[in-house]
Amino acid sequence: MEIRKNDTFTVRIEDMSEDGAGVGRLDGYIWFIKDTVCGDLVEAKAIKFKKTYGFARLMRILMPSEDRTEPACPAARQCGGCQLQAMRYEAQLAFKEKKVLNSLVRIGGLDSGTFLFEPIIGMENPWRYRNKAQFPFGQNKDGEIIAGFYAGRTHTIIEQEDCLLGVEENQKILAVIRGHMKKMQIKPYDEERHQGLIRHVLIRKGFRTGELMVCLVLNGRNIPRAGELVDALCKLKGMTSISLNVNMEKTNVIMGRELVNLWGPGCITDYIGRIRYRISPLSFYQVNPVQTEKLYTLALEYAGLTGEETVWDLYCGIGTISLFLAQRAKFVYGVEVVPEAVGDARENARLNGIKNVEFFEGRAEEILPEQYKKNQIYADVIVVDPPRKGCDAACLDMILKMSPKRIVYVSCGPATLARDLRVLCGGGYEVKRVRCVDMFAWGVHVETVALLSKLD
Ligand code: SAH
Repeated sequence: MEIRKNDTFTVRIEDMSEDGAGVGRLDGYIWFIKDTVCGDLVEAKAIKFKKTYGFARLMRILMPSEDRTEPACPAARQCGGCQLQAMRYEAQLAFKEKKVLNSLVRIGGLDSGTFLFEPIIGMENPWRYRNKAQFPFGQNKDGEIIAGFYAGRTHTIIEQEDCLLGVEENQKILAVIRGHMKKMQIKPYDEERHQGLIRHVLIRKGFRTGELMVCLVLNGRNIPRAGELVDALCKLKGMTSISLNVNMEKTNVIMGRELVNLWGPGCITDYIGRIRYRISPLSFYQVNPVQTEKLYTLALEYAGLTGEETVWDLYCGIGTISLFLAQRAKFVYGVEVVPEAVGDARENARLNGIKNVEFFEGRAEEILPEQYKKNQIYADVIVVDPPRKGCDAACLDMILKMSPKRIVYVSCGPATLARDLRVLCGGGYEVKRVRCVDMFAWGVHVETVALLSKLD
């Protein structure tokens, strides 16, 4: 039977794609069906055809998989944020482990019997774990001000103020801002016309300190009766910093570069382990602080430090891992390309009285060779935590030249991790241990730490 566009058909979901869609097969043709779970028997409607595979829309679940659960969020299917809300949490963890192991074997060419693949570190409570939220503002059909989320892959705003991954304070803050907008007749930003004032609000919370930050992103420089808005926001427990961010460009980028402080010190602070961090509206900071502490603790364990080691932390961001490592190393050098992040890293070192660190600003693949030539730099251990695209080839090359005893690779992209491990293994290293940490429950992303050791 040939399936045409908009036909419905029945199929069993046999697998999951890397981006969290269910995968089914009919007569050798592969169907990707969002919102389904491996094991489901579903009725689906054909939407889009490619040569060897197609996309279909879930219409009805005929027989649910054992791994299926009722999505807790009413917007789960429309919102672009969560891909796995219909999957039990334990099944998500297994899905992520499998995805990483598959990459290591298929792309990395590793033999799974030759290293220790340790059980994934999951979350104790997979809800309300995000310390950061960015809500776009808009209007609904009736012209009312709404805040919410973008629907997957579009810029349509879905009204949804209580994201279950975010903190409960988000709703209260949004209500205060909406109230002020209504009272002062402030218009939300309209992307198509490039008109209106309020584009987004960025909210951050220090989980250990309870401190709250609100930063309104404006298509403008000020907000009518800002004092009244500040007074209303300050009634919320924990409110610490209120600021404006100026973004008058026609762009998808949420934040502009210019900040205007309205109230408070312009930043909040939080702890990971014993290290205190200053977080400003523009700083990068991990969004899941509870799991981040577990991730860094794991990286520290894999680094095997005794206090005598010289360590390089490449792609160090605001120095989070560097400062964590510095507690047990002789000296840590961090390298990071974003100047503001390097500034934050130095400030964080000072804030914690940590003196055995130094930060370099620049690309890892340029700083390393430069320092190697100039100062014959040396490393006992090298830690890398690159963005999803992985390490630059020149960077891997330098790491091999520096020939550290151990390499700890922290990765948010299993495919590039596997690709880079293959290079390092080809250069005289062997993978000893690998462990995943789940930082993004209900989403498909997973963090992995790998330990490599130099062959004798
Ligand atoms: N280790 C940090 C940040 C990891 S995110 C933490 O855990 O918080 C990856 C970082 O790599 C980002 O801060 C990004 O700015 C930086 N980066 C990207 N390309 C780089 C390069 N070529 N050289 C150095 N840093 C780079």
